[in-house]
Amino acid sequence: MNTRIKSLIEARGRLLGRNLSIAYDRPLNIVRGSMQYLYDDEGRRYLDAYNNVAHVGHCHPKVVAAGQKQMELLNTNTRYLNETILEYATNLTATLPESLSICFFVNSGSEANELALRLARAHTKARDLIVLEHAYHGNTTTLIDISPYKHDGPGGEGAPAWVHKVPLPASQADAQYVIDLAAKLRGRLCGFIAESMPSVAGQIIFPDGYLAQAYEAVRGAGGVCIADEVQTGYGRTGTHFWAFERYGVVPDIVVLGKPIGNGHPIGAVITTRAIAESFNNGMEFFSTFGGNNVSCAIGLKVLEIVQEENLQAHALEIGERLLKGLRDLQQRHAIIADVRGSGFFLGVELLRDARIPATQEAARIVNQLRERGILLGTDGPHHNVLKIRPPMPFSKADADLLLTTFEETLR
Ligand code: PMP
Repeated sequence: MNTRIKSLIEARGRLLGRNLSIAYDRPLNIVRGSMQYLYDDEGRRYLDAYNNVAHVGHCHPKVVAAGQKQMELLNTNTRYLNETILEYATNLTATLPESLSICFFVNSGSEANELALRLARAHTKARDLIVLEHAYHGNTTTLIDISPYKHDGPGGEGAPAWVHKVPLPASQADAQYVIDLAAKLRGRLCGFIAESMPSVAGQIIFPDGYLAQAYEAVRGAGGVCIADEVQTGYGRTGTHFWAFERYGVVPDIVVLGKPIGNGHPIGAVITTRAIAESFNNGMEFFSTFGGNNVSCAIGLKVLEIVQEENLQAHALEIGERLLKGLRDLQQRHAIIADVRGSGFFLGVELLRDARIPATQEAARIVNQLRERGILLGTDGPHHNVLKIRPPMPFSKADADLLLTTFEETLR
């Protein structure tokens, strides 16, 4: 470790809250990013197979230009008329089912989920919520309450009485947990929230029919259905622009974050007119920075690039290549217990002796890949799932490099 890295680690420990983790045994001082690559302070290039936030690529020149141009012109709040926010809302809602037509702009995924919960409660006049085990929805007080990944983990204090957990489904039959809970909570249930593909739970695709049955039960009990698309939206899963579309369901509220600003802090909630009207109860909703001119100019450009550069189709093509390559590796390496996901939202589950989570091995692999110039991370309840979630420009050559380097590391 060079002295500069050592002094940064020391200063960080002195100046920042210590429950902020640092990736890798040998931490990186990343000083520059360009598309699917990151560069450290010695000019070494790393292939980024992990950071979904830089959706269209780190520092995509068109996003940078859009932000710069707007910063030079104006940046203020949403209480003035402005064309860009309307163009952005028009283009965003055009990607969604017709019923999802009303936008709210905020500054993070957490703020968006907070607002989604307020909308659900205002509409249903009820309070209780059904959540999936191991889910994560954000960092605020209330969102820790609805995030088992946090409140059931170190430092957590469990779920409050209004939060009801259902297991991650292994088959469609597990919708019964939601059906039973919804029946029990009739009259008190404001809704059900789930990522369309649970990510911190380990990159999971729901069994066919599960979400449709869960949604039906929740609505039957008076609740609304919230899709957290913070990680899965914007074409990442390849087959669809929004991951919920895969299951043939239409949520009542969709929550957006991370990729939509390509690193600039933007969150959004999109809902039905009926829910938005219930929320319009006399109390103004206002966010100082949410929907500001610069955020909207950037958000608009990011969406345009996703569409112009056909990034969804690209994620599907390269994602299939990765899935095939990883499944080949699975044949040769017993530690790979499962390869799953869709597009650029993939998980490689590692087990020791086909049953014990290979947590330490996963950490070693991630650290070795970092030494070999490829950035990945782990997730899942036991941190034994390698998470592949690159910026969308990740190419065929990048996929092949990842596969060969991964195999060398496994050997
Ligand atoms: N929902 C999901 C599914 C997330 O992954 C995250 C962030 N990891 C959030 C919400 C919270 O977003 P933010 O960190 O922007 O507040």
